[in-house]
Amino acid sequence: MCDGDDESVCHFLFECQRLTDRRKELWSDVELSMPRPMVEEIGMMNNQAKVTFILSGFGCKYVPEWNSIYVALVRFVSNLYALASDLRPVG
Ligand SMILES: [Zn+2]
Repeated sequence: MCDGDDESVCHFLFECQRLTDRRKELWSDVELSMPRPMVEEIGMMNNQAKVTFILSGFGCKYVPEWNSIYVALVRFVSNLYALASDLRPVG
């Protein structure tokens, strides 16, 4: 979707330049929903580790107290997908 050939999930979620502005907004919502130690932990990860972390449900079982984090993450992913499909040239 951009000049590079990299269509990986990692590129899409954390690297694609065309999504940078929106990603920043959406990601700050994600961080606001997280407890501070989690924000610090994820801030030290590389992009591939972030992808694994969020797609694995933070590496542990469902935690009811984290509901707002799950919701923010779903919004992060789904809004980026919506934006990407708008950017993708038709045909
Ligand atoms: Zn891209």
